[in-house]
Amino acid sequence: MSGKMIFHQFLVVSAIVLSVAAPVSTRSTMRAKSIGPQLNPPINLDAWYAGYNEKYWGGELPNDVVITRNLHDDRFMAITVPTGRSYEIDLNMKYLPSPKEEKETLLHETCHIQIFVEDTPEINDHGPKWQACMHRITKEGAMEDLW
Ligand SMILES: [Zn+2]
Repeated sequence: MSGKMIFHQFLVVSAIVLSVAAPVSTRSTMRAKSIGPQLNPPINLDAWYAGYNEKYWGGELPNDVVITRNLHDDRFMAITVPTGRSYEIDLNMKYLPSPKEEKETLLHETCHIQIFVEDTPEINDHGPKWQACMHRITKEGAMEDLW
């Protein structure tokens, strides 16, 4: 794997707008509110990933990906990090208010895992190969209940 692409970050553009517009006190309130969902156990995530892997990747992606809701860096909605043996996806619950958003983001990150697994990193994280992955799974119905 190229050392250039250490990990993928799902940048939150809307969050930048929010943080510019919101006074500091509001931002800290939002931070405090976000603690709730982060404390929830990581239910569903493993099952969703396993189901997606089976349905849209023929079970060919790693089955030992660690998925958490523990991302607290509010610059990012999610990150995907190679861990040497496998991969870890961390979701930022501040930006994912419902299972719908979580699933959509999980699919987004799983396309990054596909690119990692193929060992064909792109200069742009969301370049043609990643886009082709998203288009393919969308055509296959992955976003049907999410968009
Ligand atoms: Zn991404």
